[in-house]
Amino acid sequence: MKKLICALGAAVLLITGCSQTKEPYVRHTFAFDTYITISIYEHDGEYTTGEICDGAASMLAELDDTLSVKKEQSVISKINSGEQSQIDASIYYMLKNCVDLCELTDGAFDITLGNISEMWGFGEEALQKPDFDKLKDYAGKQNYKNIEFDDGSLSMKLKSGDFSLDLGAAAKGYALDMLNGYLVNAGVTSASVDLGGSIMTIGSYNGENWTVSVTSDETNSTAGTLSVGETYIATSNGFNRFVEYDGVKYHHIIDPDTAFPAQSDVKSVTVITANGLIADALSTAFYVMGSEKTEAFIKEYPIADYIIFTTDGQTVISSGIADSYESAQTADE
Ligand code: ADP
Ligand code: MG
Repeated sequence: MKKLICALGAAVLLITGCSQTKEPYVRHTFAFDTYITISIYEHDGEYTTGEICDGAASMLAELDDTLSVKKEQSVISKINSGEQSQIDASIYYMLKNCVDLCELTDGAFDITLGNISEMWGFGEEALQKPDFDKLKDYAGKQNYKNIEFDDGSLSMKLKSGDFSLDLGAAAKGYALDMLNGYLVNAGVTSASVDLGGSIMTIGSYNGENWTVSVTSDETNSTAGTLSVGETYIATSNGFNRFVEYDGVKYHHIIDPDTAFPAQSDVKSVTVITANGLIADALSTAFYVMGSEKTEAFIKEYPIADYIIFTTDGQTVISSGIADSYESAQTADE
């Protein structure tokens, strides 16, 4: 019997292995504006699964408080105020890694779109249509080049007030990286975490691979399944989060070159790799780049695998996972 675990609104659902059913300890929590499900299948050590999940939930809440642009007391808000900000080493190096990923993707992933996403109003209740001319002024600036890092004092500063940080495309991936360290240290040897559609797996499911269901459109139905070991999986699509002005929907993935929602041939992209931050950042970057540029990127930097569902109904799969992916259509035949 297969067991289906899904977070509300998730783009990727997780199905556990198929032989004997093994009931996990499951904890639901909420952070990063999304539902989170932690499922622990096996652990050893001195802590109960309940205690481990209490710690995990507090850790996620704390990371959300640190990384949110919408919380005035957050580290990111402090940096966005323009102050020279001294920060914890882990956050400092995470931000440096983000800037490396901005550079690697030539700005398709850009953590300095804060002003732009604020103007669009994603996630806000009271919406005000942005000034399109002003948005165009913000386009193509690659402001990640204008962050000043000081490795000696672990402090940083934005060089001008014309931009601000937004970690919306990276924070969940980083949180999964941190959670992995915490869970493994706490003795967890088999677990899955679904953070609003971003998935992390630890160990194996009963000695077998995990089966992850990949969705391709707003119906959230299964387009195919992926058989994976210990890994991270992130999905970006243009249909789950959007704002609407004058009857037109504007989704939340911005093309930094235009400051408008990205208009590539990607409908939904799922990225699989051994690091949460990289999976999250690349899923956003690949959505912006489109399928051809993504293919060329992975040829040059083979750091991840991906499945792209294009707007014209094609499925593009990187060679590293071609044998692990089974299309739902093929399975039905
Ligand atoms: P989700 O948050 O639904 O998992 P993503 O990981 O793709 O989706 O992140 C999208 C969020 O990241 C947006 O809501 C916005 O805050 C921010 N963002 C939008 N476009 C970009 C971009 N090109 N680069 C970096 N961050 C972006
Ligand atoms: Mg992302």
